[in-house]
Amino acid sequence: MEEQFLNLFETEKYARQLPLIKKEGQIRLKTEKITVIGAGGLGQPLLLYLVASGFENIQFFEPDIVETSNLNRQFFFHKEHIGQRKGEIVRKALMDINPSATILWQNDRLHAQNLEEALQDSGLVLETTDNPELKFAVNDFLLRSQIPGFIGGVGMESGHIVPIYPGKACYRCIFREHLRNPFLSLLPPIAGIMGSMMAYLSIAFLMGNHRIFDNAYFLQNGRWFVSAKEFSGLCPHHSGRSGSPDPPDESLQ
Ligand SMILES: [Zn+2]
Repeated sequence: MEEQFLNLFETEKYARQLPLIKKEGQIRLKTEKITVIGAGGLGQPLLLYLVASGFENIQFFEPDIVETSNLNRQFFFHKEHIGQRKGEIVRKALMDINPSATILWQNDRLHAQNLEEALQDSGLVLETTDNPELKFAVNDFLLRSQIPGFIGGVGMESGHIVPIYPGKACYRCIFREHLRNPFLSLLPPIAGIMGSMMAYLSIAFLMGNHRIFDNAYFLQNGRWFVSAKEFSGLCPHHSGRSGSPDPPDESLQ
């Protein structure tokens, strides 16, 4: 593999984070293939912080068209974009932030049957859509394929992020059935907070902090709850397990 390094511009650009991430961590951000599903209210702040922090190998899936009601929270879009393809505009905005990045926009609408082909070579998957069925399908695929990921959702004044990781409790351990219409109303900054949090968790994962996968993260009416994920007897993946998850495997980086 070609030796990776940071050039002078990158060393200066990332000067405030390199003491925390270290050169090796920054190179990992640069090279790890990340998939983001959805580039809407939650996906845009997530993608913004991923690219700004130095992730340079990103594919994102976004099949929708810009609508007027997107404009209050999907900040890459302006009035003149209404009716255009979301993915094209988001990709251009991200490339403006970092022209060196490889940002691949995929127009496919994902569902249980095409997830494998879409996600199989990802190092980390971030699910941000308002489609409950897709959240469960992504959970099941990630467990099957042993790819780590985060599933995020927002609605009203609340949001959740559930990390998915082999050997840990999953989305189905926490949510037994599809959330009923949780996405119809939303205060815009909630999406910003949760998208930014997903970006933070992505960086923490690549820095080797696997303890983040032990918890589920909830924001409810302005208050954070971080609860330890527990296996559920009702989860089809984890019905044989009970109690707390395995301790983090520090050898997995
Ligand atoms: Zn489970």
